[in-house]
Amino acid sequence: MQEVKPKLELKKVSKAYGKTVVLDNIDLTVSGNEFFAILGPSGAGKSTLLKVIIGVESPDSGRIFIDGKDVTDLPPNKRNVAVVFQSYALYPNMTVFNNIAFPLKMRRYTDKRISEKVRITAEKLGITEILNKNVTKISGGQKQRTALARALVRDPSIFLLDEPLSNLDARVRFRAREELRQLQEDLKQTFVYVTHDQSEIANLANKVAVIHNGKFEQIADYSELYRHPSTRWVGDFVGNYPMNFIPAGILGDSQQNAVAGFRAEWVSFSEKGFKVTVVSTETIGDTHYTLCETGEEHFIAKCAAYHEPGTVLNAVVEKYNLYENGNLVEKDRIP
Ligand code: ADP
Repeated sequence: MQEVKPKLELKKVSKAYGKTVVLDNIDLTVSGNEFFAILGPSGAGKSTLLKVIIGVESPDSGRIFIDGKDVTDLPPNKRNVAVVFQSYALYPNMTVFNNIAFPLKMRRYTDKRISEKVRITAEKLGITEILNKNVTKISGGQKQRTALARALVRDPSIFLLDEPLSNLDARVRFRAREELRQLQEDLKQTFVYVTHDQSEIANLANKVAVIHNGKFEQIADYSELYRHPSTRWVGDFVGNYPMNFIPAGILGDSQQNAVAGFRAEWVSFSEKGFKVTVVSTETIGDTHYTLCETGEEHFIAKCAAYHEPGTVLNAVVEKYNLYENGNLVEKDRIP
């Protein structure tokens, strides 16, 4: 059987601007048909990583492979990577047809071949009916499809999506996200989606690489990042609320020097718990995020009931992860 090559592979890629190391010895493997997200805060190195993959920046060291071929020294137009930018960046005074045809015209395809390819691609994306419309006259969903069609028409090896949904309003974005997920499934293409916003990819990506200071902290599916962050930094960054971290001894753990990490919803209240005092509450809908204090330590508990500040409760942490020196050493410990 022939070995299946990864779609995209980065081996020990580094890049610095002056003394600022932006990508620090990065290794990455993206397989075919994956919806892969690169998630990190502003300044983490996401754009630089994207530029290095596209080929508009060269790494200082390391190699980049697409479909098993070393493309490190190739210019962008020889890499067969399609990029979908923020808000799709469609050409505003053109029809849908001409937007999709544009990359083929640049490559000097014949009119007949262009027409054929545009029609086949439009059919795949279900936008045949709107080919003659100006892109300013179509819906948000149709714009997304047109942008993807323009990328797909070049038969790229891989799609890079650079926060494509970030300028859309919340309601439109919700639908656009679901459509994107469906399209990736239908097209069976490899998507690499770069974003600082975890709500974009939590239900979209089957794998997420969390980037921080030019290094990947963890690569896993979102639920694993959420439940078992490999470092305290990931625990702080992933989730609407940061993971709670308190000395494990408070929970009766024998590892006195370790830190227990647990989510707000892993806390309950019952007689057998340890005493905490309610400091404050943040209410979202019918859920109360309650800041609890025990000695010098604080943590957040997700509660169905509202508790007045000053109330004393008995908290039970149902499970926790153990961290030493900021790194996960054991998952799901039961007190
Ligand atoms: P992100 O996309 O995650 O916000 P970037 O890749 O844009 O992060 O930037 C990472 C770091 O590299 C930042 O500290 C930024 O200031 C620096 N940086 C990016 N591009 C350049 C450049 N052309 N020259 C100097 N520093 C840069």
